[in-house]
Amino acid sequence: MRSVVDPEPGDGRLLIDVSACGVCRTDLQIMSGDLEMRRSPVVLGHQVVGRVSGTGERVGLAWLAGACGHCTYCLSGRENLCELAEFTGWTVDGGYAERVVARSDFVYPLPDVLSDVEAAPLLCAGIIGYRSLRISGIGPGQVLGLFGFGSSAHLAIQVARHWGCQVAVFARSAAERELGLQLGAVWAGGYDDQPPVPLDAAVTFAPVGSVVVSALAATAPGGTVAINAIHLDRMPEFSYDLLWRERSLRSVANFTRQDAREFLELAAAIPIRAETTVFSLDDAPEALAQLEAGAICGSAVLDVAGG
Ligand SMILES: [Zn+2]
Ligand SMILES: [Zn+2]
Repeated sequence: MRSVVDPEPGDGRLLIDVSACGVCRTDLQIMSGDLEMRRSPVVLGHQVVGRVSGTGERVGLAWLAGACGHCTYCLSGRENLCELAEFTGWTVDGGYAERVVARSDFVYPLPDVLSDVEAAPLLCAGIIGYRSLRISGIGPGQVLGLFGFGSSAHLAIQVARHWGCQVAVFARSAAERELGLQLGAVWAGGYDDQPPVPLDAAVTFAPVGSVVVSALAATAPGGTVAINAIHLDRMPEFSYDLLWRERSLRSVANFTRQDAREFLELAAAIPIRAETTVFSLDDAPEALAQLEAGAICGSAVLDVAGG
C-alpha cells in the first residue's frame, strides 16, 4: 500500500472515511492504458462507501465525480455526457484508500438495509447496469438477453426479474451461467448459443466487440442492443442484415445522478443482493488479478475499514 498525504476537502467538498470500495473492470482498463491516463498517479476505485468526516453520515460515491452544470448536456438532464465531467478513480483520486474527497453534490445517501460491503458494487456495476436496462428499452414480461455475467449483469438481472422480464444469460464460464440460473434466468448458454426464443432487447457487458454482434444476431426485429462498456477491443464488421428491420445498437456512457438515486431506491425496495468476494485494502492487487483472470463470480469488494 502506498502512503499518500490526507486529501484536503475544499469548498463544497467532503472528506470521507472509506469503509468499502468495489473493484470494477474499468479499474483494470485504467491500469492497462485501455483508458487514456487522465491523472498520474491516480488512486483507483469508484464504488465507494464511507462516512463523512465530522458528521458520520453514511454516503456512497460513484463514477461520476462532477459535471459543469451549465453546458447543453448538463442543462438537459444528460450530465453523463458533459465534456467537463470528472470521474472518481480516473480524473480524481478514488476509494482504494482510507480517505477520499468528494463533491458534496455528487454523493448519495445509502439504504440502511445494505451493509457497506453489499452497497459498494451497486455504485457502478448496479447503477450502470440499471441505465443499460433503461437504454435497451426492455419492458415488463419481455425477453431480455444479458451477454457477459459479471458484477454488473448479476445486479441487472435482479432488476429485470423485478420488472417481470424473462432473462436469458450468455456467459463464458459455467460458474457465471450457474449464478445466472440461481438468480432466476430462464436459460443460460454461451455467447454464440441460440436462446429458445428471440430476445426483445439485450445488454452486453463483455468488453469484446464480437459479443455485440452475437447479441444483435439473437435480438428480434425492432429490438435494441445496449453496450455497457466504456472500452471495447474492436467492433468487427458485420452484415447489415443483423441491423435491418429496425434493430438498434446503442452505447451506454456513464450515468446521471438521477439514475443513481432511482437505482438506489429500487435496490432497497427489491432488495438487490450482491454476491461478494471480499479483500482487504492491501490485497487490492490480488482482487484486480482475480477479476482479470475471470475468477470472481459476482462482485469483488475491498473491505477498507475491516481490512
Ligand atoms: Zn456540463
Ligand atoms: Zn465501474
